[in-house]
This record gives sequence, structure tokens and C-alpha cells, in this order.
Amino acid sequence: MTRRPQQVAIIGAGIAGLTAALALARKGIAVDLHERAEALREVGAGLQLSPNASRILDALDVLPALRSVWLEPRAVALVDGKSLRTLTEIACGAAAERRWGAPYGTLHRATLQGALADAVGRQSGVTLHLGTTIDPALPSKDLAPNADLVIGADGVWSGLRGEIAGAGRAAFSGSVAFRITVPMTAAPRWIHEERVSAFVGPGAHLVAYPLREAGAVNLVAIVSGLSAPSRWDSAADAAMRSTLIRAFSRWHPDIAGWIAAEGQGSLLCWPLYGVSEGRWFDGERRVLIGDAAHAMTPFAAQGAAMAIEDAWELAEAVASDSGTLTDRLSGFETARRVRVARVRDRGAFNSFAYHARGPVRFARDIVFGLTPPARLAAGLDWLYGYRAPGL
Ligand SMILES: Cc1cc2nc3c(=O)[nH]c(=O)nc-3n(C[C@H](O)[C@H](O)[C@H](O)COP(=O)(O)OP(=O)(O)OC[C@H]3O[C@@H](n4cnc5c(N)ncnc54)[C@H](O)[C@@H]3O)c2cc1C
Repeated sequence: MTRRPQQVAIIGAGIAGLTAALALARKGIAVDLHERAEALREVGAGLQLSPNASRILDALDVLPALRSVWLEPRAVALVDGKSLRTLTEIACGAAAERRWGAPYGTLHRATLQGALADAVGRQSGVTLHLGTTIDPALPSKDLAPNADLVIGADGVWSGLRGEIAGAGRAAFSGSVAFRITVPMTAAPRWIHEERVSAFVGPGAHLVAYPLREAGAVNLVAIVSGLSAPSRWDSAADAAMRSTLIRAFSRWHPDIAGWIAAEGQGSLLCWPLYGVSEGRWFDGERRVLIGDAAHAMTPFAAQGAAMAIEDAWELAEAVASDSGTLTDRLSGFETARRVRVARVRDRGAFNSFAYHARGPVRFARDIVFGLTPPARLAAGLDWLYGYRAPGL
């Protein structure tokens, strides 16, 4: 196909699908956005949005709505979970904006999805079909009869992925995330109100940050070396609760005691799945973005950011006038797979460093102690300072 598509169908109105719909429609391409949920309701937990993603949201005019409600943390800190000693701290706030050219924020996923949905609602050229489940096994002509291109933004359990030869597969990562949200007024005293704190320890870590717009603190505990629970995003059962409590039982008494008490209350757990390396584009009319293409564990806090980058770059490729659409989509796939692979590697490194035991843990603490924070920040320039094509 050589010409610029007139009409595109997107499956899934999560972060990837909404961002892609907005970016494509702003380039004059008509979009049908299909979402199986009846309403875009609150799903998920807190998110950290790094400058590589907020720069794109700025270009799409979504950032002002977020900035008026989100928190721009003063710093991201790595804290030893046994001693509560801060191992290192990377400055965010104004320093992030100076260094990476866009802000770093924390917010609830529903806040981001809501702001994107509002922008989509104001944008001409997008038709949002709620309560519409698309069967990706249908032949293209029946699946989206009027569309020149079908975009699978249908998440980690993507049905469209199963229709693309050579695509990756979803597999349990061995880690489970436990989410606890507590009102700001009831936050434990070891949580700093203005920073993202990653408490690290053997086989587990705990990330805590305020969600200003929700008046709450988001805590996500990630425990590795587990077998998969039977359900996704489910209330933790008794066995999962004791797994969590056991994983933190030898941490600093303030954390261990708090987890032991909270572990009795309402607690959600997510078994973390990743999608292995594989094709995103079928060479014809179907392409994947976001978690559908490359779901990854949240060790680099980049899943939503990669979904946003994918969406923006796909719109750039689709709307370009150079070469054929097939070539442009192949180029998109190649470039994005390189970038995502590097981010995935960074997540694997973080997992190794955060959950380290014994001598590795000892060496980690020395390295963090000796490395100036500015050097650690410089090591993130390729990630946070990234400028997607067209920006
Ligand atoms: C504990 C945890 C912490 C995280 N922290 C961060 C973080 O700090 N920073 C960050 O950037 N990322 C983070 N992430 C990752 C991030 O949440 C995801 O990568 C991101 O939300 C994926 O967006 P998506 O649009 O690709 O998929 P999804 O949000 O899963 O959206 C897919 C949509 O497709 C719809 N759908 C599926 N099938 C069909 C169908 N057949 N027809 C119609 N609709 C369909 C679904 O209903 C859904 O709305 C975290 C993830 C977890 C689990």
C-alpha cells in the first residue's frame, strides 16, 4: 500500500489506544477506537510518568490537565529496606525539567486515561465505540471493513497478537505486584511525602509515592521468585497475603510491622506478565503497540511511557508521505523494537540490583554510595531525554 491511510481502526482504549487515536486524528486520519469495556472506569494503580512520555503528552496538549493535578516529586530515592538508609537520590522536580526538557510526575492511571479520553472527546475525527469487543480472529475485511490499518492496542492478553505470525507470547515473569493505597493522612511515617521511594531488599522491593489528586499514597510491593496466582488483578487470597508478609518479615521493623498489619486488609495482587520478543507488524494491515506488543515488568516504570512513545511514533510513520506504508510500518517496528529492548534490559538490571542478596547487595550499596547522583542522572539521559521523531 502506498497512499496515506484515510481510516484506521484501533482495538483497545487504554493508554496506547487513546494516545494513538489522538495523535492520528490530529494528523487528519479518521479513527474508529473500539473498547470492550462499557465505560472507561478506574482500573490500575499509580504510575510514574517520565519526561520521555510527558514530552509527548505536551505535544498532544494533554500535559496541562495532568500538571494541574499530579505531583512532581522532588526526587526518586533508593532506600535500603533493612536500615531505611537512603542509598542514593536522583533529583526530579525542576531539575528533571532542566535536564530532560519535560516534567516527571506521579498520578493515578485513571487520571491519565481520563485526560486522554477528554482530549479524544474534543478531537474531531475519532469515534469511540464503548462496549465493543472486537474478534481479532476475523479476516481483516470483516474485522474493520473500512479501515486501511488495524492497530492492536489490546493489552498484555492481546487477541490480535495471536493473529500475527512470529509475534511474542505472554509469560509469567515470576514476580507478583501487591498494591496498597492508603489515605495521605494515614501514610506510614517512613514514606516521604514529596519523593518516589524505592525500598530495596533481598527478593523484593516496595515503591511508594503520593498520588496528590487522590489524596493518597500508592504503595506497590513486588516479590520475585513466585509461581503464578490463578487470577489477574485480583484481591489477594490468604496464601498470597502470607507470601507478602513473609517476603518483608526481615526488613526494617517499621516496614515489616506495617506490611504485616496492612496484609490483613484489602489488598490487590497482580501477577506480572511480560511479552517475549517477536513481530509487531504482520507486513500487511495489522500492527501492535503498547503492552500488546511488549508488556514488561514495571522495574523501569516504563510500560505506559513505552505505550505513549509507540503511539506517537506510529502516528508519525502512518501519516508520513515518504515511501510505502508497508515500508514505514516496518521502519516503525524496527526502530521501536530496538528502543523497547534497551528499556527492557534496563528493567532486568533494576530487578537484579533491587532484589540483590549477599555480596551483590553489598557491592550495589557501595556503588550507589560512591557514584555522584548527577552521574546516575546522566546515565538516564538516553531514557528520559529521548525525543521521539517529530518532536
Ligand atoms: C504494578 C504496576 C505498576 C506499573 N507502574 C508503571 C509506571 O510507574 N510507569 C509506567 O510507565 N508504566 C507502569 N506500568 C505499566 C503500565 O500500566 C502499562 O504498561 C500500560 O498501562 C499499558 O497500556 P496499554 O494501553 O498498552 O494496555 P491496557 O491498559 O491493558 O489497555 C488495553 C485495552 O484494550 C481493551 N481490549 C482488550 N481486548 C479487546 C478487544 N478484543 N476488543 C476491544 N477492546 C479490547 C481492554 O479493555 C483495555 O482497555 C505498571 C504496571 C503494573 C502492573
